[in-house]
Amino acid sequence: MPKKQNSCQKNITELFQRSESFLVDILFPRRCIKCGQEGSFICDLCKRSLEYLSFQICPVCEKTITLSGEQCLKCKQTQAVELDRLISAGSYSDRFLVRLIHAYKYKFVEELSEDLGDFMANALKRWKTPIPDIIVPVPLHKRRLKWRGFNQSLLLAKYISENLIPGIEIPVDDKTLERKRHTMPQMEMKEYGSRKQNMQNAFAVKPPDVEFRNKNILLVDDICTTGATLFECARIISTLRPRSITAVVLARQDM
Ligand SMILES: [Zn+2]
Ligand SMILES: [Zn+2]
Repeated sequence: MPKKQNSCQKNITELFQRSESFLVDILFPRRCIKCGQEGSFICDLCKRSLEYLSFQICPVCEKTITLSGEQCLKCKQTQAVELDRLISAGSYSDRFLVRLIHAYKYKFVEELSEDLGDFMANALKRWKTPIPDIIVPVPLHKRRLKWRGFNQSLLLAKYISENLIPGIEIPVDDKTLERKRHTMPQMEMKEYGSRKQNMQNAFAVKPPDVEFRNKNILLVDDICTTGATLFECARIISTLRPRSITAVVLARQDM
C-alpha cells in the first residue's frame, strides 16, 4: 500500500512547488507571443486582434461556401461522409494564431487552452451551430499522451463545455471514442489517399455511459489537416446513431 503523506510533508511539497513556479516566473516571465508584453502568453489587446474566419466551407469538397460549415447539397447526396458540419474558428494563414497553436501543442503551454477554447466557443456561437448535448475531444494515442502530458483537444473541449452556455456545463465524453492505433502525424503525409488509409481502424467506440442516440455531438480537435481524422471519428460515432455531428477546430490547414 502506498504510504500516505502526512500534512506536514504535504505542506512542504506544496510550498516547494509554489516557490518553484514562482522562480520560473521570475526567471522566465510570461510574454505575449505577439507583442512581447509581460504578464501572459497572450495579452488582452492581442487577444482581441485574433481574427475569426468570415465564411465557412463544405468540409467534403472544400470549395462550396455554406451557411454554417455544413456539407453542400452535392456532397450530402453522395452520403460519403458522416460529419454534418465543420467550423474552423480562424485561418491557418493567421500567423499569430498558428504561433499560439504551436506554443500550445509543442511547447506544452497548457494555460493557452482557455484563450484558444474561448476563441472556439465564440466561433460556435457566431455560426449558430446546434447546441451540443455531448462534447467529444479527438483522442490521442496513449503513447502520444504520455509524451505530451495532456490531450490538447480534451482541454479545449472542457473549456467549451463550461463556457458555451452560461450556467450550463455540457458533458464531455472522453471515454467512448478511443484511439486504437498510433498513426503517423497527418502533417507528414502529403497524399490524401495515404492519409485516409493511415486513419483506417485508428478509432473505435466503447459502449457509452451516456446515450448518444438522437443527440447533437460536438467533436473537438485543434487543427484540421485534411479532414481524414474528423471524418473517421464521425464515421465511428455515427454507429451510435446521433442526431448530428459537428466538428470544431482552431484552423484548417488548407485555408
Ligand atoms: Zn500582445
Ligand atoms: Zn461539398
